[in-house]
Parts: sequence; C-alpha cells; structure tokens
Amino acid sequence: MKDAVVIGAGLAGLTAALRLARAGKSVTLVTKGPGGLHLSQGTVDILGYAPDRVAAPLEAVGSLPAEHPHASVGAEAVGGAVSWLAAELGPDLLVGDPARNVNLPTAVGSIRPTALAQPSMMAGEVTGGKTFSVVGIKQIKDFPADLIAGNLARSTAPDGGALTARSAWIDLPARKGEADPTPLTYARAMDDEAFAATFAKAVAAVAGKADVVALPAVLGAKRLDVWRQVAELIGTDVCEIPMPPPSVPGIRLYDALLAKVRDAGVRFVQGSRITGFESDGDTVTSVTLAAAGGPRPLTARSFVFAPGGFESGAVDVDSKGGITEPVFGLPLTASDATPLIQSVYWGPHPLFEVGVRTDAAGRPTDAGGAVVHPNLYVAGGLIAGAERWREKSGDGVAVATAVRAADQITGGSR
Ligand SMILES: Cc1cc2nc3c(=O)[nH]c(=O)nc-3n(C[C@H](O)[C@H](O)[C@H](O)COP(=O)(O)OP(=O)(O)OC[C@H]3O[C@@H](n4cnc5c(N)ncnc54)[C@H](O)[C@@H]3O)c2cc1C
Repeated sequence: MKDAVVIGAGLAGLTAALRLARAGKSVTLVTKGPGGLHLSQGTVDILGYAPDRVAAPLEAVGSLPAEHPHASVGAEAVGGAVSWLAAELGPDLLVGDPARNVNLPTAVGSIRPTALAQPSMMAGEVTGGKTFSVVGIKQIKDFPADLIAGNLARSTAPDGGALTARSAWIDLPARKGEADPTPLTYARAMDDEAFAATFAKAVAAVAGKADVVALPAVLGAKRLDVWRQVAELIGTDVCEIPMPPPSVPGIRLYDALLAKVRDAGVRFVQGSRITGFESDGDTVTSVTLAAAGGPRPLTARSFVFAPGGFESGAVDVDSKGGITEPVFGLPLTASDATPLIQSVYWGPHPLFEVGVRTDAAGRPTDAGGAVVHPNLYVAGGLIAGAERWREKSGDGVAVATAVRAADQITGGSR
C-alpha cells in the first residue's frame, strides 16, 4: 500500500506528488489527462486582481474574504509554497518574487500581473518609457504583432508612464510545406542552435531600435537558453509573450515538474479516470481506477484530490442545473447552477467560485464544518471561494493548497 495517492496532474497534483516524494513518502499519481498547464501562461499567478490590479500579492492576501483558499492557507504559507516550487524548478524556469507582481504583455497587447515568470519573459516587464518592437512570424497565426504593438502603444504602464511600441514581421517556415504550424513546432525547431541563429538574424533585420524585442513564446521546447542566444545575436533584450494553447511555457513547466516527480520515484498512471472510492467508515481506503481491463482499486493511507474545477470536469452541472462532485460526492458550496450563471461576459461569474469547503488542513467539510473524510485532502481548483481566472489566483491556490495537503500528510512543513 502506498502512503498517498494523488489524483490529477495539473499544477496542484504535480506539486503535491513532488512535495510528498521529497518527504520520503511512497506516492501514486493518477490522472486522466495532463491538466491546465498546457493551456496556461507558464507563469505562477498568486493574486493579480483583488479586484483592482495588485502590486504586492502576499500583502493583498490579507484583504481577501475568509472563504478564499489563500486566506485559509495564509500569506506566509502561500509565499513559502511558491518559493519552494520555484527553488525546485530553478532559475532557468521560474524567476521573480512572490511578494511582488511583475506586469507582462499578453498576446493581445494587454498587461497582466503575475508573481513568478520564466526568465525569457522578464525583459518585457511593462514600465513607463519602455520601447517595444513586437516581431511576429507570418506562419504563426495566434501572435498578432500589429494588435499587440497597437494596444501596448495605446496603454499606460501600471507605473503611470507612457509606452512606445511598433510591430514587424518575419517570414520563416519552421518545417517546409507545413500550412498551419503550432507554437510547439517552432519551439522544437529552436532547440536546434542553427535554426535559432537563422531566426535571430531574420528578427534583427526587421526589429529596429527598441529597449526590448517582444517575440512569440516559441524560444525552445527543451533548450531553456534559446532566449539568451537570440538576445545576444540580436544585441537587444528579448521577451517571450505567451500565446494561446498549446502554450510552450506551460508545457515547459509541465515537462519539468513531471520529470522531477518521476525522478523522485512517484508511480505515474496516466490516461485513466478515478471514478469512485471505497471507505471504512469515513476513512477512504481506496479509489477506483477505470483501467482498461476493468475497475481497479488503488489503496493508500492518504489521498490528495486535485482534479481542477469545472474546466476539467471535476464539478458537473447537469441539464437541470444540478451541481455535483462526481468522484467522492463531496458537499459543494452550491447545488443549483441556475442563479449563478450570468449573461454578461465580463461580469462576475459566481458559478466559478463553487467548489468544496475545506478545514484549515485542506480536508473537505460539510456546510456545518464537519470533516467528511479524515484522510482525504483537496488541492487546487476544486476548492471553493476563488474566481481563479479573473483574480489570477489559480496557480497560487494550486501550489499553496498542494503543499498544505502534502505537509498535513507528512506531519508538518519543512
Ligand atoms: C479559462 C480559464 C483561464 C484561467 N486563467 C488563469 C490565469 O490566468 N491565472 C491563474 O492563476 N489561473 C487561471 N485559471 C485557473 C486555473 O485553472 C488554475 O490556475 C490551475 O490550472 C488549476 O490547477 P489544478 O491543478 O487545480 O487543476 P487542473 O490543471 O485543471 O488539473 C486537474 C487534473 O486533474 C485530472 N482529473 C480531473 N478529474 C479526474 C479524475 N476523475 N480522475 C483522474 N484525473 C482527473 C485532469 O486530467 C488534470 O490532470 C484559469 C481557468 C480557466 C478555466
């Protein structure tokens, strides 16, 4: 029997599995699929809006309502968890200060706050007076360089200063004859130093003078110093701007975390769903894996449930608006979606705050605060109380609650 089974391989599940394995626990990580990192910016947002733009995310955690997962973990523990993850991944993948947000340009030329980012993005920090040259690749359709530069030039930096931005394009196929290449096609091509050098030469020819050359986030899939090579060859700072999925920076984080989890001895079971559980009284004894040959129990002393939120099917809404958690049947903060669905796209969407209540240890509770299963811990998007995508808090919630769950199982923080 394993010490722990972790369900879900998003940021929360991977973090929990790694933290448990580092503490010497035997772990099975089981997932039906890869989770949200492939769709993400490849950054770690702790708190970007509350509701206004946040400059100091840990300080702002103090102003969140008590029901918010960050409030229940506490600012110090949130900062400690994110710092631990950053140290695990190292400065080639994540840099920054959990106490201070940086403001980075997006693929539509807006400006988003985040706490930790990849080093290849950092020169793009939007500060007053900065000049950007945004260079697109004609073959990549999801990097509208003209729109990005136009919107940046129209924007005021969060520090109040003006910005200057222009756009330019290069025409450089990554693979001959490919009609619709993804960012990943280019990132893999950049792993080859010769292709990256050709790319840099083409960019240098059109970029013009600027403080920073902003490029689509395709500077290497495996090789993490491509951005340095390109900057040196161009002779100007460069920054990667994350793009719509498949997100190369997100995949870099996923690949690195999964490699660490495997190296740490975690058994990784992918492609199968957990469909239910067995218990002895309230204590969970096994979860049921829908394996190819039929249902199979995975036994453990403790369980970390990190299945994400609505977006990953962790919470179901049926045709009558009934909301349920399908694996453990955990109590949720709402049972009827009808009054929670709003017609205004940019308005508040209370449905996204629906989830599982937990105690201070991360164990699911009922409406009265009673713990439902003493050896089951919830981490990440399933926890109620955060509108994660709007607040830009989902990554921080995933990491902080995963570390909390692991530390509860191992008997304390390190
Ligand atoms: C549109 C959108 C935009 C967002 N933008 C941001 C943002 O900008 N910043 C931010 O911080 N957050 C954002 N979020 C929130 C984002 O979801 C979190 O940041 C983070 O990805 C949640 O991580 P997680 O590990 O909890 O869940 P996920 O990444 O969703 O991972 C869940 C994992 O559980 C697995 N799984 C689920 N059910 C089962 C099962 N029954 N059996 C086995 N495996 C299962 C899935 O396959 C997956 O691997 C956004 C969310 C959405 C929907």
